[in-house]
Amino acid sequence: MSRFLRDRFQTLEPYTPGEQPKTLGRLIKLNTNENPYEPAPGAVDVINSDEAKKLRLYSEPAASLLTEAIADFYGIRQEQVISGNGSDEILAFIFMAFRGKTGKVWYPEISYSFYPVYCDIFGAEGVKVPLGDDFSVRPEDYYGADGTIVITNPNAPTGMALELSQIEDILENNRDNLVVIDEAYVDFGADSAVGLIDRYDNLLVVQTLSKSRSLAGARVGFAMGSEELIEDLNRIKFSFNPYNLNRLSILAGAEAMKDRGYFETTRKKIIDTREHFVEELKGLGFRVLPSKANFVFAASDRMRGERFFNELRKYDIIVRHFKDEKIADYVRITIGTPEEMELLISATRKILESI
Ligand code: PMP
Repeated sequence: MSRFLRDRFQTLEPYTPGEQPKTLGRLIKLNTNENPYEPAPGAVDVINSDEAKKLRLYSEPAASLLTEAIADFYGIRQEQVISGNGSDEILAFIFMAFRGKTGKVWYPEISYSFYPVYCDIFGAEGVKVPLGDDFSVRPEDYYGADGTIVITNPNAPTGMALELSQIEDILENNRDNLVVIDEAYVDFGADSAVGLIDRYDNLLVVQTLSKSRSLAGARVGFAMGSEELIEDLNRIKFSFNPYNLNRLSILAGAEAMKDRGYFETTRKKIIDTREHFVEELKGLGFRVLPSKANFVFAASDRMRGERFFNELRKYDIIVRHFKDEKIADYVRITIGTPEEMELLISATRKILESI
């Protein structure tokens, strides 16, 4: 640490991303919830086209090709959409912009581990709301909160989803609080709250093209809400980084949003693979939380999460383990191709035989 860093950042604990090996080699990478399938063909084509030569030019700040494609997909107005450099950037804008009169942000105690980091860096007070014993998010715990509410749906790393009626319940009981629904994994089986943005001016829905549209490396995320909320977020964006999305990502993102057929086929493959994989894991004696995401959260009575994580590493399979004692029994496993999941199952069988 240099002697120049501001005092308030000296204790900042940064977010720890999942391991990103420089080369994949033989590794089966199931640790950061990436999509095992390539991006839509149109998205790849546009990146491989002459568009790269236009990189001498700045991108269009409003990224309108992309926001138009998103608005079109959801049947909303373009003014109700803002795009960002991954949904992480959109979340950063949100934590900068909104935190109620008390300076607080409420979120589930077990949830996306970036939220406490954003609270820290932007000086908000995080309120961690415990989950139920079954890891469920309970809407009544958020009634009359005194700050902004951020809920991941489906939740991470549990994969468990709230029903749309439960989201609406939270919105109804927090008319004067902003409610942010982080829907990074919504396309793998949960219902999006985007249909509620015209009825609730306190709702912001955040999504990403990193998961269900296979564009994690392109860094494309977005938020949808009332025109006023989007205007507020644009105020932040234009005070921070107007060209936040690069030219190629705008084009690739727009193509990915337009190709509905490819989106449907790949997300269905992942859902089918997940359902089959969950049955196999259960067959090996694992407890598996009911997942609506492109990952599962699983634990075995025979070994703790860290041990399972280390044993799988010996078979060149990387999954994710979190040290928080409340979830230390579990590992989070991204759903890959059927072949990758078969390899994981056969490695697990051998691990169970050897311990
Ligand atoms: N929200 C949640 C719940 C996530 O798990 C992730 C992925 N780490 C993100 C947001 C951010 O995704 P991205 O920045 O790639 O859009």
